[in-house]
Amino acid sequence: MEDKSFALYCSVQSQLDEVCDALKLDAGTKAYIRQPQKELTVSVPVKMDDGTTRVFTGFRIQHNNACGPYKGGIRFHPEETVNTVRCLATWMTLKCSVAGLPLGGGKGGIVCNPKEMSVGELERLSRSYIRQIWPLVGPDQDIPAPDVYTNPQIIAWMMDEYSAIKGYGNPGMITGKPIPVGGSAGRGDATSRGGVYTIIEAARHLKIDLKGAKVAIQGYGNAGSFAAILLSEEAGCTIVAVSDSKGGICNQNGLNAREVVAYKKKTGSVAGFPGSQPLSNAELLELGVDILLPAALEGVITMENASNIKATIIGELANGPTSAEANEALHQRGVLVIPDILCNAGGVSVSYFEWVQGLYHFWWNEAEVRTKLAEVMTNAFRSVLEMSLKHQVSLRKAAYMVAVSRVAEAMKLRGWV
Ligand code: NAD
Repeated sequence: MEDKSFALYCSVQSQLDEVCDALKLDAGTKAYIRQPQKELTVSVPVKMDDGTTRVFTGFRIQHNNACGPYKGGIRFHPEETVNTVRCLATWMTLKCSVAGLPLGGGKGGIVCNPKEMSVGELERLSRSYIRQIWPLVGPDQDIPAPDVYTNPQIIAWMMDEYSAIKGYGNPGMITGKPIPVGGSAGRGDATSRGGVYTIIEAARHLKIDLKGAKVAIQGYGNAGSFAAILLSEEAGCTIVAVSDSKGGICNQNGLNAREVVAYKKKTGSVAGFPGSQPLSNAELLELGVDILLPAALEGVITMENASNIKATIIGELANGPTSAEANEALHQRGVLVIPDILCNAGGVSVSYFEWVQGLYHFWWNEAEVRTKLAEVMTNAFRSVLEMSLKHQVSLRKAAYMVAVSRVAEAMKLRGWV
């Protein structure tokens, strides 16, 4: 796993190098933007329920704050590595920039398996992690958020621990909080809703009618399940296949997204949903659909399966699902890949709204949040599409060009390079 994540990090750095060269940026800018500004590795001691103490490894990596305070989630995952967190932190800088938010990029993680931990152990882990990283985070420095296998409850414990250390309430230090302790309306489905806004724009550009368009979704957690609900209920798409870590299901006549959510809640997986046929995660990616949404983990679309993919639009709700080579191959074949830093930027956009609301203690309703989100995502998609058409490059390269040029300009204006 270490090697795989190191290879991913090297590929992220070479993509950045390429974009810096395409933008004709100077050597200093290129050298600074390709690596994180700060990296913290911490040992996180936790008293387990059986009375023993286990020490987990955690990270907080701050990639770039030229455009504003670092922003990025915290992931709890058994296969977390420093290199995965470096990639995710870099993508956050680019994501905030492409969405036009006044924020930089960071990311955190703990190597652990939350599925094997009790609620009490998870609370002690979350609080212990904050006790290790607190000097580096805060509303004006670095604002964490949830990511894979972290949820609003975990964020509430983290906010509470930070507030206890500081001696006063601090809703602006973290986002993704439950609403009663300073969360924003509209955060739950923000990533998926933002992704859906980009899919609507992509379909408009390609003149595809979304009504009845067939959709397959890999991953049925926060991002995947809300995308299924929104695409079926608000855009009229037919969800033909979905999956999770235990397997996939397919029904060419359409799956009821909410019923699948309820079934997964009850049984722990989408697998076995009544009236569906089983299929593997690999088969799902290659189904004959109009829209494919990778919404689980990184590295699932590679040169090994890119030529078998039949979708016309790929919306990357997950971070890093497509390798750089596969992205180019798909682009050459005319498949429109909406890159992660654009497609899933809805989450961080509403996180930004939550941060602003927390700083001012002034709360917006869901309709206000949705209107602002639609504006951010539509503008972001249009500026990336314009760059892509102007330079005849893929949407991913165009998104990187938009993002890097904004960060580079901020670094230059600050006198860093
Ligand atoms: P989640 O934990 O809610 O859901 C993850 C889903 O992926 C689960 O259904 C899980 O079973 C499934 N999964 C795990 N391993 C799998 C595998 N090997 N094959 C198929 N499915 C697998 O996480 P999430 O918040 O929905 O995040 C999913 C992706 O979206 C991640 O890449 C995350 O970084 C990205 N993302 C999420 C948000 C957000 O706001 N939730 C924002 C930006 C990006």
